[in-house]
Amino acid sequence: MALVEGKVAIVTGGTRGIGFTIAREFLKNGAKVALAGSREETVNEALAKLAEEGLADNVMGIAPKLTDPESVKEAFDAVVARFGRIDVLCNNAGISSRTPLVDYTLDEFEKVMDLNVNAVFVCTQAAVRIMIEQGEGGAVINTSSMVGKHGQPSGSAYPTSKFAVNGLTLSLARELAPHRIRVNAVAPGVTHTDMVDALPDSVIKPLIASIPLGRMGEPEDIANAYLFLASDMADYISGAVLPVDGLSRP
Ligand code: NAD
Repeated sequence: MALVEGKVAIVTGGTRGIGFTIAREFLKNGAKVALAGSREETVNEALAKLAEEGLADNVMGIAPKLTDPESVKEAFDAVVARFGRIDVLCNNAGISSRTPLVDYTLDEFEKVMDLNVNAVFVCTQAAVRIMIEQGEGGAVINTSSMVGKHGQPSGSAYPTSKFAVNGLTLSLARELAPHRIRVNAVAPGVTHTDMVDALPDSVIKPLIASIPLGRMGEPEDIANAYLFLASDMADYISGAVLPVDGLSRP
């Protein structure tokens, strides 16, 4: 079943990990996809990987600075020029942090907030302006995290940023409902990507052992939730923060 047939979707942080898998699954399910990365080089590598899998058609790469409204507008206009419209925005780019409070610099704290929150605001505003003009509704899906509900014992900028993502999700869902633009979030638990591979065994092993469904999440688990929330099957769902975490509730 082609869940998102004919829809045009933008996926930020689409060059690897969860975002790359979202882009790939959307393509397999009939969407046209603009994959956004921070550098043209990594965007081209991701496009080449998709081409190897026979998914070269219906995909383009963009590399805007996600916190810069002008840069994002220019990139999203290029998506409209190529694919004619924007139906779905997947705000997925994000960085993590594990710094203890006493060692944090304000710069580091702000860097996490900038990408994880400000970029979501900038990209959503740019995409929604286009969706409102189209007048046919749309879907915004944000990547939150299980720590956006429970907190975590270090790197407080990261859970703080995801609480903010949840706040934006719930508020914009209400604000944009009259335009039939649905705003939801997916809250992954520990998911098998570079972000997790970068963690030491001493952190990751006890985390996996504590997951009731007995395994780490795979990027496909997260992409499936994105597919559902982007599809017309979720036409009556807005303002949800959907946990996809194997029941991990630390
Ligand atoms: P990843 O590190 O594999 O990928 C992150 C993506 O964000 C990459 O495509 C990268 O290019 C992009 N990115 C990083 N800095 C950027 C910048 N300055 N500008 C533009 N793009 C930038 O991570 P992932 O695990 O795939 O994470 C994706 C999302 O899922 C993030 O929002 C993360 O917080 C969230 N998440 C991940 C996990 C997990 O366990 N992996 C759990 C919960 C939530």
